[in-house]
Amino acid sequence: MNRKVRRGTRLGRVGFVCAIGVQALGVSQLSLSLRAQDAPLARSTDNSRIKTMNQDNPFFSASKLPFQAPDFASIKPEHFANAFDAGMAQQLEQIRSIALEQDPPSFENTLVAMEKSGEILTRVAAVFFNLAGAHTNDAIQEIERDVAPKLASHSDDIYLNKPLFARVERLWNQRGELKLSEEQQRLLKKTYEDFVRAGAKLSESQQVEVRAINERISTLTTQFQNQLLAVTKERAVLVDDIAELSGMSDGEIAAAKQAASARGQDGKYLLAITNTTRQPVLTSLKNRELRRRVWLASANRALGENAGIDNQPIVLELAKLRARRAQLLGYSDHASFTLENQMAGTPKAAMKMLQDLVPGVLEKVKSETASITEAMQEDGLTGPPEAWDWEYYAEKVRAKKYQVDESAIKPYFELESVLKNGVFYTYNKLYGIDFKERTDLPVWHPTVRVFDVVGQDGKPIGLFYADYFQRDSKRGGAWMDSLVSQSRLLHQLPVVINVMNIPSPAQGEPALMSLDHVQTMFHELGHGVHGLFSSVEYPSLSGTSVPRDYVEFPSTFHEDWAIEPDILANYARHYQTGEVLPKDLLDKAIAASKFNKGFDSLEYLSAALLDLGWHSLSPEQVPGDVVGFEKQLLAKFGVDLSAVPPRYRSSYFAHVWSGGYSAGYYAYLWSEVLAADAYAYMKESGGLTSANGSKFRQQVLSRGGSREVMQQYIDFRGREPGVEALLIRRGLKD
Ligand SMILES: [Zn+2]
Repeated sequence: MNRKVRRGTRLGRVGFVCAIGVQALGVSQLSLSLRAQDAPLARSTDNSRIKTMNQDNPFFSASKLPFQAPDFASIKPEHFANAFDAGMAQQLEQIRSIALEQDPPSFENTLVAMEKSGEILTRVAAVFFNLAGAHTNDAIQEIERDVAPKLASHSDDIYLNKPLFARVERLWNQRGELKLSEEQQRLLKKTYEDFVRAGAKLSESQQVEVRAINERISTLTTQFQNQLLAVTKERAVLVDDIAELSGMSDGEIAAAKQAASARGQDGKYLLAITNTTRQPVLTSLKNRELRRRVWLASANRALGENAGIDNQPIVLELAKLRARRAQLLGYSDHASFTLENQMAGTPKAAMKMLQDLVPGVLEKVKSETASITEAMQEDGLTGPPEAWDWEYYAEKVRAKKYQVDESAIKPYFELESVLKNGVFYTYNKLYGIDFKERTDLPVWHPTVRVFDVVGQDGKPIGLFYADYFQRDSKRGGAWMDSLVSQSRLLHQLPVVINVMNIPSPAQGEPALMSLDHVQTMFHELGHGVHGLFSSVEYPSLSGTSVPRDYVEFPSTFHEDWAIEPDILANYARHYQTGEVLPKDLLDKAIAASKFNKGFDSLEYLSAALLDLGWHSLSPEQVPGDVVGFEKQLLAKFGVDLSAVPPRYRSSYFAHVWSGGYSAGYYAYLWSEVLAADAYAYMKESGGLTSANGSKFRQQVLSRGGSREVMQQYIDFRGREPGVEALLIRRGLKD
């Protein structure tokens, strides 16, 4: 059943991670986000619309282009709604005939048949959700709103189909006698679990309750999101006097003035509040009182102070509903339910990983606090830093200590050289692959580039689309997604995309990148090869169809190659003089990038602990007071430092209340532990060699979900991961 048909909220690069398209995550994440999070109540599909379907619709048959690459030249917005309707109807028809099959269930007539179902839906969803992120418009956004509840109900229609589940369950019960390959066993297990986790085994009345809970959760999450949007606008800080903005650049001040005018406040300055607790503008604002106002506006968001907009009742009700649903499904709490099919397995394991890091992180924060206090003293301020002082003085310490000027580094990171002599070079050394640009395939925007990916033996591996430049029609952040998933069953080779938001250069100028963007480019192609090297039979297990706490492992693993001296020497050359990036400049940039990692890590850890804390409660344990619970929980873990607040507080923690990351915020760091451990191991074993690359490709990158992920890791590493390398990577230990 190759149908990852609904996408959760796409996250931008969240501090140190990017997001991956839910498209690329595969069906288990689909059903997870549909079921465990926010599934609207099922509705039956409206079959009448299918009669009007347009036979010329390019989604109705497989693309004739190489690798079945979507024909973007002939796809028009009006094809989408039509193809979604037809695609859902087609799949339901296929599912019905599988469920009503007269022969007893077999792996072939049930699971393989399900894997083959829904081809129209798979095709349209892949293209549609790619465009919704990378090149959207009003028409696409309208279809997005319209199609989301339909896809959710479509999923219900499959997973709550009783005769279908009866067949899957019978196979599951006979699994010992079926003589299945390892991959087939994985597919059976995953499919069976997807049904059970959706509520297939519940009684009629329990299913009614789960559906009602899902419906209520869906309403609440939308409400949370809308209220957060409204309050974030509402809480922007208005400044009367330009003198108060001292420290901000002319460009920033002009933007603030424009923002105020747009709100009918001519002559004033508006400082907008962005998503995290910390606010970018705090790094430059000299005026301490204004810093305090900005910080309070951010940290007290949606607590009922502005126009009565209060997310606290929503948080409490969501926590209770999720706990109740988990209880119905046989789990003690929502986190136990959610983590069951993740690499961590249990909330206890995830919690332990976070807690193990706390002492080292606190130690680092302590030394950072000392530097910041010292810098404050130079300004005549005594006493410990307040939360609104931290970033301003951290920036001062950084500038003084490292004297790094980003504009001095950028000329060494010219995009074409970074891509070819850096990224492609590294992937070639590790995996023997070549990237050959081709210009004959249609793309969704003229700046998108297409590459044939060719193996050492000269055989095609797949297609790689690179969409690197920022534009208005593109969502923020960076991500990878799949247009076609590798599958031997479906005779498909992979077609993957990488999307970034690198500012476009002026006409005729080269594109110069920041170190952060360079590492992101290495990172995203790490996801890319996870899709490209996939070597599995079944599409549901293809490439990046792995648990959320594992999926950022291959990508993060590839980031650190960007700063290896041998690799840098190959690509980091001044675009005018050809001079290699001077070592001291690079060392400073790297040291500066590790600065403030105590703060970064602690604000992340606190948020991740909050998330797990809220979702480890039984319905009866859900408290009546959001702020009190938060306070108590942070104190319990010893992370209640007033100067280092959580990256998100409960009332605006959109990832976990409305973004599909409930009990999952820890996953970013979990993946980073694996990445750091694996990278350190590879460095010990010779570094950038094809022997290392082959091993990683074979044991990890080619497996997709066809082998249990901890086993994949052990196959590669020879043991389970440890946190040591992560501490060093984050500068928390020497
Ligand atoms: Zn990523």
